Amino acid sequence: MPDTDLDTVAGWLRDASYVTALTGAGISTESGIPDFRGPQGLWTKNPAAEKTATLEYYMSDTEVRRHAWQNRVNSGMWTAAPNAAHDALVTLERKGRLHALVTQNVDGLHHAAGQTAAITVEIHGNVREVKCMTCDWRGPMDDTLARVRDGEDDPECRVCGGILKSATISFGENLVAEDLHRSQVMAARADVFLAIGTSLVVYPAAGLPEIALRNGGRLVVMNAEDTPYDPVAHAVVREPLGTILPALVDRVGSVGNIRPSR
Ligand SMILES: [Zn+2]
Repeated sequence: MPDTDLDTVAGWLRDASYVTALTGAGISTESGIPDFRGPQGLWTKNPAAEKTATLEYYMSDTEVRRHAWQNRVNSGMWTAAPNAAHDALVTLERKGRLHALVTQNVDGLHHAAGQTAAITVEIHGNVREVKCMTCDWRGPMDDTLARVRDGEDDPECRVCGGILKSATISFGENLVAEDLHRSQVMAARADVFLAIGTSLVVYPAAGLPEIALRNGGRLVVMNAEDTPYDPVAHAVVREPLGTILPALVDRVGSVGNIRPSR
C-alpha cells in the first residue's frame, strides 16, 4: 500500500469517535500459530483433526476426546507470544483510537499483549479455560492439562462427571448470545471498522463488517488474501500485518487518552 493511502486510513482513525477491530487467524500466524482453515491450515492438511473441533464427534466419541486432550497437551499455543501486530492494537487502544475488539481467535494473544478485557470480545471463546458440557463449572486449562499429564486421558468434571472441553466454540456449537450481541453493537457504532487477518467467510463474525457499513462506518480490510468484502471496502491492505499495523498506528500520532508511560 502506498504511504499516501496509509496516511488516509490513519486520518480516518484520528477523526473517528469509535473504532472497532475484528481479528482472525492471520494476526496470529506470525506468532507461529497455524491458520486452521487456510491453504496451509491444520484442518486443510488433516481433515481428521477437524473432528476434534466438531461438537457432535467430541460429545459422542471417547477416542476423539482423547485425541483432543493429547493435542491440547502438545499444542504450541501455550508458548506462543504476541507479535508486533497484537502490540500495535494495544498501542492504538492506548492512543484512545481503538474502542472495541472482536476476535475470532481462541489463542488469547490479545489478552497476553495487554489489550483491555473490557473492550475485547472473544467470540469463539478461548483456550485458557475448560468448561463442563453438563453443569456450569469452568476452570483454568492448566489444571486440567495437569490431570491429562498425570494419566487421565479423558478427564471428567469433578462436580458432575460431565464431559470437559476447552472453553472454545466448536463447530456445531452455538456462540454465546451475549458475546454476539455485544459484537454487533460494537460493529454498529464503528466510524471505522478494521477487519484484520480474517478471510471474512465464517459467520456470524463475517457479518460484522456488513453491520458497520450499513450504519455508515468505513471498512478497512487488512488481509493477505482476497475477502468477499474487498469490492465494498474503503481500503484494502495486503502487506504483512506485523509490519503494516505498527506503521499505520505510528501514523495515527499521539492523540486522545494516552496512558502515562511507566
Ligand atoms: Zn460438570
